[in-house]
Amino acid sequence: MDIAIQKYSRTYFDLIEAFKQPDCAVCRLTDAAVCQYIDIFIYENITNVARRQEIREARLFCSLHTTKFLSGYGRLLSLATLEQDVLNDVLRSTNRVIKHPLSRPGKIGALFQNAARAIRDAIRPARNCTLCDYERSQERVMLGTLIQFIEEPDIREAFEASNALCLPHYYMGLGMPGRHERIIKVQQAVLAKTKADIDEYVHKRNPLYHDQEMNEDEIESPTRAAKLISGRIIHMDGRW
Ligand SMILES: [Zn+2]
Ligand SMILES: [Zn+2]
Repeated sequence: MDIAIQKYSRTYFDLIEAFKQPDCAVCRLTDAAVCQYIDIFIYENITNVARRQEIREARLFCSLHTTKFLSGYGRLLSLATLEQDVLNDVLRSTNRVIKHPLSRPGKIGALFQNAARAIRDAIRPARNCTLCDYERSQERVMLGTLIQFIEEPDIREAFEASNALCLPHYYMGLGMPGRHERIIKVQQAVLAKTKADIDEYVHKRNPLYHDQEMNEDEIESPTRAAKLISGRIIHMDGRW
């Protein structure tokens, strides 16, 4: 391989390609990485006792990542196996509380309150969603690469022509070491442009101004702004 190319990781080239696509590149690459991770997990780790225990302790996944599990082809059986684990564990723990209530002397109301507290303890996740943990690690690699190489012409030009980072990834990037001037400049420009498109959208949706046509950017601005403000949106059918 060319020595000049060896200097850059695969993430560097992935980022350049992703900046050419709509919306936040880190969201897009993280989403692809999580999908791949789920597929590998299903084929290689579904019988791994330690991994299964982590997921059981986390009470499956967060809502966003459970949606990702539901949306892929052939993932339902694996999901069902994990759900079995969690429900078994929840029922075992809650049954124990219900069959052996803490029999302290006192009013019957206090007894139910104690049971409610014990059941809450039994159903509460004892650890983070494992896919959230994986996502954070991927985001750190991607943002670290962007910050490290932002002055290299290829990635700089791709970033400057992109839809910038979503606010959650912008926030995360600013908290990482390195120089952030160029990132801040691009972010400000994209935020201002998105705000201008949203202003036009709201204005032209007003019945008083219905004769004014919207351009392409304005028509899709609410969805684009949602992804810019909140990060990626998960569709059940797997589309971006
Ligand atoms: Zn993002
Ligand atoms: Zn999660």
